[in-house]
Amino acid sequence: MSQISITVDGAKLQVEADQRPTHIFAENKEIVVCTVNGVLKDLWTDLVDGDVVESVMISSPTGLEVLRHSTAHVMAQAVQEVYANTRLGIGPPIKDGFYYDFDPENTFNPDDLTKIESAMRKIIKEGQRFKRRVTTEADALKELAHEPYKCELIGIKGPAGEEASVEVGGAELTIYDNLGRDGNPVWSDLCRGPHLPSTKQIPAFKLMRTAAAYWRGSEKNPMLQRIYGTAWPSQDELNGYLELLAEAEKRDHRRLGTELDLFSFPEEIGSGLAVFHPKGGIVRRAMEDYSRIRHEEEGYEFVYSPHLTKAALFETSGHLQWYADGMYPPMILDEEYNEDGTVKRAGQQYYMKPMNCPFHNLIYRSRGRSYRELPIRLFEFGTVYRYEKSGVLHGITRARGFTQDDAHIYCTKEQMVGELDSLLTFVLNLLRDYGLNDFYLELSTKNPEKFVGEDSDWAEATEALRKAATAQKLELVLDEGGAAFYGPKISVQAKDAIGRTWQMSTIQVDFQLPQRFELEYSATDGTRQRPVMIHRALFGSIERFFGVLTEHYSGAFPPWLAPVQAVGIPVADTFGDYLGDVIQQMRKAGIRAELDSSDDRMQKKVRNAQMQKIPFMVIAGEEDQKAGAVSFRYRNGEQKNGIPIKDAIAEIKKVVQERTQV
Ligand SMILES: [Zn+2]
Ligand SMILES: [Zn+2]
Repeated sequence: MSQISITVDGAKLQVEADQRPTHIFAENKEIVVCTVNGVLKDLWTDLVDGDVVESVMISSPTGLEVLRHSTAHVMAQAVQEVYANTRLGIGPPIKDGFYYDFDPENTFNPDDLTKIESAMRKIIKEGQRFKRRVTTEADALKELAHEPYKCELIGIKGPAGEEASVEVGGAELTIYDNLGRDGNPVWSDLCRGPHLPSTKQIPAFKLMRTAAAYWRGSEKNPMLQRIYGTAWPSQDELNGYLELLAEAEKRDHRRLGTELDLFSFPEEIGSGLAVFHPKGGIVRRAMEDYSRIRHEEEGYEFVYSPHLTKAALFETSGHLQWYADGMYPPMILDEEYNEDGTVKRAGQQYYMKPMNCPFHNLIYRSRGRSYRELPIRLFEFGTVYRYEKSGVLHGITRARGFTQDDAHIYCTKEQMVGELDSLLTFVLNLLRDYGLNDFYLELSTKNPEKFVGEDSDWAEATEALRKAATAQKLELVLDEGGAAFYGPKISVQAKDAIGRTWQMSTIQVDFQLPQRFELEYSATDGTRQRPVMIHRALFGSIERFFGVLTEHYSGAFPPWLAPVQAVGIPVADTFGDYLGDVIQQMRKAGIRAELDSSDDRMQKKVRNAQMQKIPFMVIAGEEDQKAGAVSFRYRNGEQKNGIPIKDAIAEIKKVVQERTQV
């Protein structure tokens, strides 16, 4: 047999011409797919002389996607085995798992998932090979005549949308056959691939839940049944993931928002639009107040802008060209009519603002600016409205109306490096004050295909951001080419108490808006110069940060943020007056304290305070009263007795002032 020379993971190799990656990598079962000359391929792919092959491990992001899609594929096979008359939709991998859409005869129920899982186990055990077969549109339509949804995808090959691209997104139309033990196909699916070499290489999976989903996401289409599942490189990783989900479920801010009476989403207002209840209002105000103080200390000036504007402003800013989909549709105002009902004067379009930047630019531009004034740092708790798809809304962490802690900094080019450096330090320290401590930074650099501004400005700004990031001694992840077209960006990613990563603050240099708004300042030599503009949201939005903190603390906020800092619980009714007086003294000292004067027995009151996650339970019985003291019971169940009232007040005030957790 003739030989070919190829490069495998950087090393030159001579192999028999019929050798495939699955043979070359046979020793290492962690390798589940590969790239050939940079294109992702099955391990069963044919090789030719000169090919450059790179292995892809199952635990890499790409490996996980292939594992999860392959598992979705096996799930579809199992569903059709168990429920023969089920038609197939699409089955892409998603974050941490996969789904597949089905059109079954009957709606799936939880028992069905168990049945499907056990059919999947059989398929996995059999070690069926995924075999790729190139087909033509005409042949595929004939072969898949019983699969109307797949046929529709063949018809729209091309702009089928991101998810459908799993089926038909490749350069060639392909069908994958699953080969049984005897080597004959037992099941086939229209699919772009690639897949694992064999079903046996699915180490651990679980089906999670079913949901209704419109075919291709449109309510004009039939409603299908979606099954979600997850798959991992090992049983341990699957278990770890399931534990994390259970923990996340307990902490879900939407659930805690109701349990702790913090906020709600009344049906009457519309989805994605929250109201904050008094207790949530206290947390929110404490967050805002502290942020305001810190910003004032850092030289920010507070401004306000309206929620509405004429369309022209967003034409100037460019938002209507590239962000219109994310905006609420316009209101047409001040239209005038003739008697016959025809329009006499066309109306004026007004938009809800999705961003605050254009308003701040108008403030900057309201009069001439001198270099002496720079940097100008404008800050606003600016409420914006974005028309997010209902499918992506998620409590207050992804809403349609929210308030950004938004700042825009205008400075000279010379000031930019120093400004970015101090800005990043400020941002990180403030996040630390709210109790987040584990960060990494992501630097998004220029997309050479799509950018405005001068190369040299980009290079300078990117270097300034890199320097600022490096000075923090935190992990820096490069997002090469990931910047928006108008400038490079640093984002701060924070890990919460259970290790989940949240994108928090962003610091974004903008070369575009100063041009579009013709922002200027007069320089030392009297010339008109264009300032550098930096966008910066620290929390992202107050609502989102509130949601993140709620989940991070699992609702047990540190005392400085807690809606109720101390609750008085008398051991018996007879100590109610004494304790009421203590609580009154606490309130006078600025502590958010209240007395539980309900009819409940003491044990019930303690339980209620625990449910409400109140940091200090202030308890008084006979001994306390005699000694002029109280007892503390903390959230972890520990108790401290006989604390003189003055000391009790001082202890609470201290932790509030120092913003420490108890
Ligand atoms: Zn597939
Ligand atoms: Zn902005």
